[in-house]
Amino acid sequence: MKKIEKGEIMNRAQRRAAQKSNKKGEKSNNEVDNVMGMFDLLPDQCSACLAPYDKKDKQMVTTWNVVVREEEKIVRLYCPECWSTAQRIIQDVRDTDAE
Ligand SMILES: [Zn+2]
Repeated sequence: MKKIEKGEIMNRAQRRAAQKSNKKGEKSNNEVDNVMGMFDLLPDQCSACLAPYDKKDKQMVTTWNVVVREEEKIVRLYCPECWSTAQRIIQDVRDTDAE
């Protein structure tokens, strides 16, 4: 009986060790669930100009900008053009404020 218990403890420890080593390349299940939950909310178009977004397009994935408001569960997506326009507007507002 005790030997079996020890074996179970070993297995649990091994499992934990295996999960830890997985963390290097992958996120834990909870984190993945969170991220996946937010990805469900990811729009398939630019939130400003409605240009279609293809999440399988690696260039789009790296150039488009995602704004996540976790508390409100809002995910907004901006194409590079709208993003730079938005940045410029924000900059303009800041410049105007400074004057
Ligand atoms: Zn856009």
